[in-house]
Amino acid sequence: MKSKVLLIYTGGTIGMIEHPETGVLTAFDFDHLNKQIPELSKLDMELKAVSLGMPIDSSDMNPVIWQDIAQQIVDNYEDYDGFVVLHGSDTMAYSASALSFMLQGLKKPVIFTGSQLPIGTIRTDGKENLITSIEIAASKDSDGNAIVREVAIYFEYSLYRGNRTTKVSANAFEAFLSPNYPELAIAGVDIRYNTDALLKTRKRQLHFNPKMDDRVALMKIFPGFSTKVYEGLFDIEQTRAVVIESFGSGNVPNNSAFYELIEQYTGDGGVVINTTQCYTGNVEQGKYANSTTFNKLGVISGSDITTEAAITKIMYLLGNCTSTDDVKAHFEQSLAGEKNEG
Ligand code: ASP
Repeated sequence: MKSKVLLIYTGGTIGMIEHPETGVLTAFDFDHLNKQIPELSKLDMELKAVSLGMPIDSSDMNPVIWQDIAQQIVDNYEDYDGFVVLHGSDTMAYSASALSFMLQGLKKPVIFTGSQLPIGTIRTDGKENLITSIEIAASKDSDGNAIVREVAIYFEYSLYRGNRTTKVSANAFEAFLSPNYPELAIAGVDIRYNTDALLKTRKRQLHFNPKMDDRVALMKIFPGFSTKVYEGLFDIEQTRAVVIESFGSGNVPNNSAFYELIEQYTGDGGVVINTTQCYTGNVEQGKYANSTTFNKLGVISGSDITTEAAITKIMYLLGNCTSTDDVKAHFEQSLAGEKNEG
């Protein structure tokens, strides 16, 4: 029996065309993209494509569209062997992370891909990215089970865990890295899977929890920041959680006004997560004097989580947990392989 793969087209550079006069890249419909890749009809599988509303630049992505993508997968889950989501690269790591939390217990691949150059251009990276993603979405082991059972990103010969990935280059074809987790597969002449690194879920069936709470803020620490400027962020009337990108292994300036602001906020029920600005390594709260106060204030260490995964995980937990303690307890755990459990 032929494998069945569903393509979900959301937009992004892969399907964009240049405006003839201004040269500005704008998202275009799926038929245009399809015409540029006659190779798709040569694949020995059943392919179906759906477009999610108007194609967008992924800068316009949001939790409602994440829910639509996830809903498409849930509605078609039994009928397809795998799913490929065509998406702009700018926020792909956020979307892949969000879906990894909304869709836990996956037994089938959900592969995000896109490109740095539009599919209609001669040097496009889009064709290889799309064709190999489809192949990965259809891949089965010798028992007939899907090899990849998680949300992943395929870009420029590498398959990464979606919620471990970050966009690192605006121009290079190697646009993504997974700094704290090995690649799930490398595509050369063959696609070599790193079987030990693939997610093994303990969940027996697919759990679909699409609710997200967007009352979340992100603060990147820099030397000499003014606490006053950030007061609105740590205000329970405005936000429910703040993700802090701290220095190194989780350090912040020893600033009593900042600590008081956090103390008040967590006392009001706000959640504060500490992630590092560094690409590799992890937060170790209490290693330096400049992070010990965070332990006393109940700030949660994000360990080695990416900012993209931290933001979407806290949105997901705020949307689905019934109490702040529940949110905190679940944040400490790895829900979909997004962080080191140690
Ligand atoms: N701005 C584009 C987007 O994210 C960039 C890309 O697709 O690579 O939609």
